[in-house]
Amino acid sequence: MSYYYEVIPLSQINEGLTYKLDQSIPIGSIVQIPLRKKTATGVVLSECKVENITFDIKKILKIQKASPHIINQENLNFYQYLSSHYFIDLGMVFKMAIQQYPDGQLKSFLSYKGKIFSSQKELIKSFELKPKQFKELLEKKEIRLTTKNFLFDQMQKEIKLNTEQQKIFDDIWQFKQGFKTHLIDGVTGSGKTELYLKLIEKTLIQGGQSLVLLPEIALTEEWTKRFKSYFGCEPFIWHSKQTRSQKSRVLQSLLKGEPCVIVGARSAVLLPFKNLQMIICDEEHDSSYKQEEGPRYHARDMAIYKAKCSNSICTLVSASPSLESLFNAENQKITAHHLTQQFHQTALPEISIIDMNVHRPSSKSWISKEIYDETMSVLKNKGQVLFFLNRRGYAPTKICVNCHTAIQCQHCAVNLVYHKKIDRLICHHCSSFYDPQQICKMCSADKFISLGIGLERLQEEVIRLFPGFQSQVFSSDTLSSKKNKKQMMEKIFQQETNLLIGSQIIGKSFHFPNLKLVNIIDGDSSLFSPDFRAMEKTYQLLQQVAGRSGREGERGKVLIQTYSPHHPIFQSIKDQNRDNFIRNELDRRKQSHLPPFAKIAQLQLVHPHYPELRSLCLEFLEISKKLQLGVLGPTPSLIPYKKNHYQENFYFKEASYAQLNSKISKLLSQLSPKNKRFLHIDIDPLSIA
Ligand SMILES: [Zn+2]
Ligand SMILES: [Zn+2]
Repeated sequence: MSYYYEVIPLSQINEGLTYKLDQSIPIGSIVQIPLRKKTATGVVLSECKVENITFDIKKILKIQKASPHIINQENLNFYQYLSSHYFIDLGMVFKMAIQQYPDGQLKSFLSYKGKIFSSQKELIKSFELKPKQFKELLEKKEIRLTTKNFLFDQMQKEIKLNTEQQKIFDDIWQFKQGFKTHLIDGVTGSGKTELYLKLIEKTLIQGGQSLVLLPEIALTEEWTKRFKSYFGCEPFIWHSKQTRSQKSRVLQSLLKGEPCVIVGARSAVLLPFKNLQMIICDEEHDSSYKQEEGPRYHARDMAIYKAKCSNSICTLVSASPSLESLFNAENQKITAHHLTQQFHQTALPEISIIDMNVHRPSSKSWISKEIYDETMSVLKNKGQVLFFLNRRGYAPTKICVNCHTAIQCQHCAVNLVYHKKIDRLICHHCSSFYDPQQICKMCSADKFISLGIGLERLQEEVIRLFPGFQSQVFSSDTLSSKKNKKQMMEKIFQQETNLLIGSQIIGKSFHFPNLKLVNIIDGDSSLFSPDFRAMEKTYQLLQQVAGRSGREGERGKVLIQTYSPHHPIFQSIKDQNRDNFIRNELDRRKQSHLPPFAKIAQLQLVHPHYPELRSLCLEFLEISKKLQLGVLGPTPSLIPYKKNHYQENFYFKEASYAQLNSKISKLLSQLSPKNKRFLHIDIDPLSIA
């Protein structure tokens, strides 16, 4: 007797294909199938009725035998939802979720000092042991063999909560039976992490799995240290740089339903948990949760849906929650909890706005006298000062001295950024490097001047103004090496560095106890952007950076330089009146029918040749007209040419996701298949220009 199954291969395919097998297997089984003359991995989606089969059916080649090997219905539902909501091919969703599936049975691991290693080599390397030392530790049973994947034994240190934290903990924990979304909204230093670690502790002790999402991989190291100090073991860590065997171990544990804690960036939300009870999404407002390249999904929104599928609790955490979450809290879709007390009872920083129209610095200078004076007085009292500027490199533009033409990238319609340290021009969109010795395309002149300011140039000015004090630049360029980062941190904590010069990365979870003053050099940088979220992003960024000053006991100061001091956003920031800002911003969005009051999809057409792109746009418009879909556009992208491709954008703006989904589906059904690959669909695009 033959059984027939619909199997989805892990590739760019959106529908399952039919295969047969002479035995019955469960739905969700992982199998090997023949596909286009090759062998591919696939997942069984459903069993097909025999009478529907009228054509020649290929056989399933092999059933994944390694135990456990079945994706349960809860996960299948989640992947199918993610695929249909974001218009990502179902096969690709499965590929992202289970690509690292272990082939074959896993052997046991070595455990040492609360850490697990899949091989002797890995352990020796990690602790820099000599083979002899390894042997001794093994004999002393300090290094052990274990088949357990997650090493939790008992708490190493008690997580103590204050009355405020305890009350919120009790509120959240009482809903542990069933799906619910919470928001922990608390100022910096109010103990949000301890509160959710307690939720994780309870979940672990009850035998459940917890998922912790962080906006960036760079933050996992600090987080892991904190986790280990309480739990005595390491959490599972999930990111693309993990070895194959490390990933296998995590997957095996998840699929077995073992109690464990896993921390990762957005892709961790796709993992096939089998006993998930608690999801934490830390810094939920962070735009890094949205994948902007390739398959575009929002990990925070998917975390909420995943919690729904697995009937678990989802806890969003932030010191400056997103407008969406605050709006959902207002509409009782999620329950908001507020942490108001800071552990060290630090008063909120004193924020002053500097009107640069009045206090304009001299030419080729970006630091006002106000900032100079305040910085000097902090330095005299041995405090540290942060200069904040959200722009990497030396100068954002280099122009020809003769005809003022800017040097642009050959692959993108954007100006190249000069990085003085490495003496290269870099495209911040496609990462191409160029020699700084250029010839002007318009007039063949070979002299250029730098316009505007980046972190490196700011550092030059800081060094000039504050001789004798040490400065350091904090950006993704200088923090990318682990060794570099460690050295920089040490210098700051030992007070060797007096002046910190940083981009937005510094707003994320770095704690500098002696930081007394934050100077925001360009408060206007994103204020006049055409992006409708610019105001929200600016507010969150300023609030976050301001939160870096005056921790541990003393009141810090924040100075913001701006050419538009009367902009309402600065008034709200200065008064620390977030409610006021949110009210104004929600009113504005409501009037303009923008999210969270409407749902938006961006349909971006990209093509290497402009005439073909135009004809694609016409095809789009014709379909929309024929079906009366009312697509908006085309509007040229802010960057009309990127990575050797021309771009044009269309939009749908609807009252609900269901309407959005139905319109896009109709449009896709009429679009010629060969043209679909030139279309990128982005649901809830983060930036709209
Ligand atoms: Zn020129
Ligand atoms: Zn480029």
